[in-house]
Amino acid sequence: MSFRMKIILGVSTIQAVLLVILIWNALNALTASSEEALLKRTDTTVKLFASTTQAAVLATDLAALESFVKEVLSNPGIVYARVLSNQGVLAEGGDKQALARKFIADTRLMSATNDGVFDTYADIQVAGEKYGRIEMGFSAKSIQQLIADVRIKLFALGLLNLVLVGLFSWAFGIYLTRGLNGLQHGTQQIAEGTLGYQINVHGTDELAQTAAAFNAMSAQLKHLDEAHAKKEIEIHRLNQALEQRVVERTVQLQDANKQLEHQALHDTLTSLPNRALLYDRLRTILLSAQRSQELFALVAIDLDLFKEINDNLGHHAGDLVLQHVAKACGNILRDSDTVARMGGDEFMLLLPKVTDKEGAMLVAQRVLEAIREPLQIGERLIEVNASLGVALFPQHGEDELTLITHSDAAMYEAKRQKLGVALYLVEMGEGKSEAVALKGELRRAINDGEMVLHFQPKIDINSSLINGVEALVRWQHPRLGLLYPDMFIALAELSGLIKPLTQEVLRLSMKQIREWDSQGYNFPIAVNISAINLQDKDFPESVAAMIAEYAVPSHRLELEVTETAIMTEPIVAIENIRKLSHLGIQMSIDDFGTGYSSMAYLQKLHVAKIKIDKSFVMDMGAHENDEVIVRSTIDLAHNLGLKAVAEGVETQAAWDKLRDLGCDSAQGYFMSKPLTAEHFLEWVRTSPWAGKQIAVGVR
Ligand code: C2E
Ligand code: CA
Ligand code: CA
Repeated sequence: MSFRMKIILGVSTIQAVLLVILIWNALNALTASSEEALLKRTDTTVKLFASTTQAAVLATDLAALESFVKEVLSNPGIVYARVLSNQGVLAEGGDKQALARKFIADTRLMSATNDGVFDTYADIQVAGEKYGRIEMGFSAKSIQQLIADVRIKLFALGLLNLVLVGLFSWAFGIYLTRGLNGLQHGTQQIAEGTLGYQINVHGTDELAQTAAAFNAMSAQLKHLDEAHAKKEIEIHRLNQALEQRVVERTVQLQDANKQLEHQALHDTLTSLPNRALLYDRLRTILLSAQRSQELFALVAIDLDLFKEINDNLGHHAGDLVLQHVAKACGNILRDSDTVARMGGDEFMLLLPKVTDKEGAMLVAQRVLEAIREPLQIGERLIEVNASLGVALFPQHGEDELTLITHSDAAMYEAKRQKLGVALYLVEMGEGKSEAVALKGELRRAINDGEMVLHFQPKIDINSSLINGVEALVRWQHPRLGLLYPDMFIALAELSGLIKPLTQEVLRLSMKQIREWDSQGYNFPIAVNISAINLQDKDFPESVAAMIAEYAVPSHRLELEVTETAIMTEPIVAIENIRKLSHLGIQMSIDDFGTGYSSMAYLQKLHVAKIKIDKSFVMDMGAHENDEVIVRSTIDLAHNLGLKAVAEGVETQAAWDKLRDLGCDSAQGYFMSKPLTAEHFLEWVRTSPWAGKQIAVGVR
């Protein structure tokens, strides 16, 4: 039921009840007053008539009484009149029907209403004695009529009043609910989403105040909604910008990764594939050739007299020669062929599409001719010469190592006999094939404990005290004697034995740390780890396990990794370095300057030291260029907050120079060659370098 209806009903009900009470009271009052008036009038009239007729009754003057009755009946309000003596009726007149009834006096108006006649009487008395009686009937009709009229009028008035009240309350309801309607409409509008909808405010009553509050709320809602929409647009815009940035970054990252990948697998000077990439391609081709039994050739190239060119004409000339060789090879080879720079002045060709040994020899011959094309360097025209050795799959070897060693053997033969190009012959392999034989023995040798460590000290240049020891592995071969790492590390890497080898070196180092500990020496030991270890996701955990097993404090272990090892698969390498460094192990970059170095990467790497490659340190005196490299590497290290360590310090001059350049530590034959543990301790006890070296606090 609507609010308006409720008002109408409520007001009307109250009004109706009031009216009924009012009408009831009014009618009662009217009846009472009419009755009183009637009683008074009839009483007076009947008494007056009694006194008028008294004499005639006493005299029994019937004629007089007759005329009195006639006269009194001329009053229209009188229905009948009767005069009685004690003996009976003396005279009577009026309405026959009324006269015929038995007389019963009425005392109240209501008792007269049955027949519409108010019956009353008065005794005729003289000196207290009753002589007769007057009986009269008065018409009650006019009063009854009056009351009926009044009643009708009252009801009519009441009805009119109800209608008016109804109308009024209806109008009042409209007036009252107009504001409510506005509010209702407003809330509906808001519910439907028309935020900010304003309703008209009339007056200052509570509804108007509510309406004003509603308007304020609505405006606030709209304002909030707009702000929200703006925020949403802004968020959307930001999201888009972010997405755009992510896309851009992804592209940049992809580019950077491609670039890094390229840099990791290519030589910076010549842009040729490097050793890692060549091995990779060799492995791929080998796998497919083993299935298809197709031929392919591996050609080792080594420049003749390259050192002389470098020494006499300078490094720049050397660089030009290397670039010339790269170009010469590229000109001759097909797209499917690979030419790689293996390091220094060594190159390697991988020719997958040769048909026979003559074909392979012919390509090698043409490459050599292209290399021999005269090269203009400044004023000079120089001729570069090279020796090439060719090995074929499957005749000369069925695995990578054999093919590489055999192409090398053929190249040495070409160099020795000045042949230019030589094809591998079984006799050539005898000396070099040692590598193939060693490969077979390496696993056993690791298990049988043939690996031994030699130790070389690192000296703090400021204090001249030992601040660390590098562990360098040697193979105590039962037949061949002491083998140096360049004889078997590459072999271990190629044959997958580098992991057990590194574990063995780490294990021996842990034992050594504990032994020296017990003798009062607490040098940290640095262990070299290979690219393959660095790419092994489980490596940090295995190191952690080892440290725990031997209960060695992690800061007593240092690990050296080369730039090239990092760049081969930078993401894994960086993560591993981070983990190792978090274990508390000090990490160093080894052979710095020989590989590709990116400032961006250096900053990200969790390393503590940079070891300047010995080739620069050793040549510092002879080549100004190398001194520049050493100087700038030291500065670079210091700018990155790292320590600089120089390797290959062979002379007092080099030591002095490094001290002047602000280098932190030095390592080299000038102080000590790598020594067995026993000799090392003796050196510590006797050498002037280590004279004061008893239980140094290294850090
Ligand atoms: P590296 O890490 O650069 O080690 C330094 C090498 O330079 C050692 O050769 C050391 O004997 C030599 N050296 C030290 N001072 C001088 C000096 O004043 N002048 C000259 N000319 N040479 C000096 P080494 O022991 O033959 O080791 C060669 C390389 O073999 C090492 O180079 C390292 O890359 C690798 N290597 C050695 N031990 C391990 C090992 O346990 N694991 C792995 N993965 N690699 C190892
Ligand atoms: Ca009566
Ligand atoms: Ca090293």
